[in-house]
Amino acid sequence: MYCKHCGKELADEALMCPDCGTPTGVALFFLFIAGCIIASGAL
Ligand SMILES: [Zn+2]
Repeated sequence: MYCKHCGKELADEALMCPDCGTPTGVALFFLFIAGCIIASGAL
């Protein structure tokens, strides 16, 4: 995949761009899931 911010090519499993630090879709997905878990009171 490519960084949405700077366009650098990243590994598919990369959580963020090493160049500019922008979180990838993978990182945003995990943040979204974590938010849902916390919001549901499961923790
Ligand atoms: Zn970048």
